[in-house]
Amino acid sequence: MHVELHPRFADTSAGQRARELTSACVHCGFCLATCPTYLDQRDERDSPRGRIYLIKQLLETGGASAVTHTHLDRCLTCRSCETTCPSGMQYGELLDIGRGLMEREVPRGMLQRAVRSLLRFVLTRPRLFGLLLLAGRPLRPLLPASLSRKIPGRQELKPVPGVRDTKRTVLLLEGCVQSAATPRTNNATRRIMARLGIDLVSVREAGCCGAVNYHLAAQHDGLDDLRRNIDAWWAHIEAGAEAIVTSASGCGAMLADYAHLLADDPIYAERARRVTELAADVGQFLTKEDLSGLVFNTDIGPVAVQTPCTLQHGLGEPQLLTDLLQCLGFTLAATRENHLCCGSAGTYSILQPGTSARLRENKLRALTREGPAVIATANVGCQLHLAAATEIPVVHWIELLDNA
Ligand code: SF4
Ligand code: SF4
Repeated sequence: MHVELHPRFADTSAGQRARELTSACVHCGFCLATCPTYLDQRDERDSPRGRIYLIKQLLETGGASAVTHTHLDRCLTCRSCETTCPSGMQYGELLDIGRGLMEREVPRGMLQRAVRSLLRFVLTRPRLFGLLLLAGRPLRPLLPASLSRKIPGRQELKPVPGVRDTKRTVLLLEGCVQSAATPRTNNATRRIMARLGIDLVSVREAGCCGAVNYHLAAQHDGLDDLRRNIDAWWAHIEAGAEAIVTSASGCGAMLADYAHLLADDPIYAERARRVTELAADVGQFLTKEDLSGLVFNTDIGPVAVQTPCTLQHGLGEPQLLTDLLQCLGFTLAATRENHLCCGSAGTYSILQPGTSARLRENKLRALTREGPAVIATANVGCQLHLAAATEIPVVHWIELLDNA
């Protein structure tokens, strides 16, 4: 697809990069078949190809209307189109550029801006988010079922054994929503790592991975999150930390992008590259470890595995969870349409509730056709979103490994 840049964008790095990315698209339309929003809306403008055209239009004319916002907002950023595209289109990066330009060229109304700012403020502050959860839990019986099920219950944590005389240090990115809403995930991660003799270190100064700000088109704030984390981790990296793990695949996909997002930063580019090199989803990390000394209770009935988009399309690991759980002896339930998003997608379930709920309904139908005992996922957003609409327990898969 050829783009003639409008003079306003001709000399900008964003314009030139967008033109380069757009040129990969050959209009074939293969991506339409695997795009959840196109399958839901049946409107070309809600497909990857349609959105690429909308961004092209903006780049060529220098202007757009609120309609472009509507269709770009409806994108889940699931990147299913990327893994389908035969032409290697890097759609996620183009979308981020398009959304950033749209935010500047077509300002949103006050209400939309307020909601988005509030989300960015609350979701990136785990303590505040934790306090809101604490305040919301006693109100659950008074709320409509649909709302009360969105508030996760309090989770009991198990003691973490101490690790002595270890030479192995691994950094943990705690994640903002996860550390407040589902602390059992990191608790289980700590316990497994301790059993492997690994000292798992959380650095207090590190915070949100940057995904919330960056994907809500507050890209400056998002990049500042990246720089703050790099500063927080750097002394530990220099002291020999062997990896930076996260148990939220959404954060893992963001860490994998640090190198690229800060590639032009004269101060941080090299450090960002090192962070990306060390970054791993906890599943990616554990598959390289010898787990034969660990004991699991695999006798829990069939497990339906939901591989989040950030793990399968973002980190390129569509089989990681199923292979790992199967290899460890768990029985897996048959599922289908595994490539399609569950509708959680960060803040999507709040900002686009209708589409999000329909996608969740489809996903639960695809996951539960064999009546699984439990649904296992790898990302807190998917976990909370699915759990709000099913009686079947939805857990992070690492919790299954902590069931000795
Ligand atoms: S599959 Fe790739 S090349 Fe084909 S229309 Fe979609 S983005 Fe363009
Ligand atoms: S990222 Fe997902 S929702 Fe967005 S265009 Fe691609 S497949 Fe469709």
